[in-house]
Amino acid sequence: MKTNLNEIYDVLFDYYGPQGWWPGEGLEIAVGAVLTQQTNWQNVEKAITHLKDANCLNIDCLKRIPLVKLESLIRSSGYYKVKARRLKSLIELLARESRPDRDTLLAVDGLGYETVDCIMLYWFEKPYFVIDAYTFRIFRRLGYYEGKDYLELQRVFMETLPSDVQLYNEYHALIIAHAKKHCLKTKPKCESCPLLDYCLYTNEPNI
Ligand code: SF4
Repeated sequence: MKTNLNEIYDVLFDYYGPQGWWPGEGLEIAVGAVLTQQTNWQNVEKAITHLKDANCLNIDCLKRIPLVKLESLIRSSGYYKVKARRLKSLIELLARESRPDRDTLLAVDGLGYETVDCIMLYWFEKPYFVIDAYTFRIFRRLGYYEGKDYLELQRVFMETLPSDVQLYNEYHALIIAHAKKHCLKTKPKCESCPLLDYCLYTNEPNI
């Protein structure tokens, strides 16, 4: 049943087409990666719009802006007090170093692997495969990985696929599209799923 990751990609790409992800560019990617922690993208978009309207989606402003003002601008993204502090710490780093490496980003308070790899892949265009809750869900159901370890699952992708920024970018976007359109957390739409023939879940629906 289990097939290779390239084949899964081809099926998803043929079905959903190019996704043109991640929204935004440059610093906006890093800000979005922090704001999207534990919330949906619609809430992030509102916060990004508020930052843009205040002419504050830049390092100078984000460095200078008082914490309480930043909190109010990003309030719609939820956990805004925590996120404002994380953004401040990230901006302090980016003000000193325009292209910090992955380990340096990971040392910033509140930045985990997923957030940092989004910055590495989508902004710095470094080949780090981004793993998220959708990736765990889909590839557990497909029979690839049972665990919950970010680095382990990332290794499965990065050791199997060519080290290619565009491929990693598109694959992650396709995983999100698939998780939202078919492989839902509860009641996945397996009957119309393009991966139905490859999936263990339909045979063992408790996976
Ligand atoms: S067949 Fe169902 S569980 Fe399997 S990948 Fe498709 S939607 Fe998800």
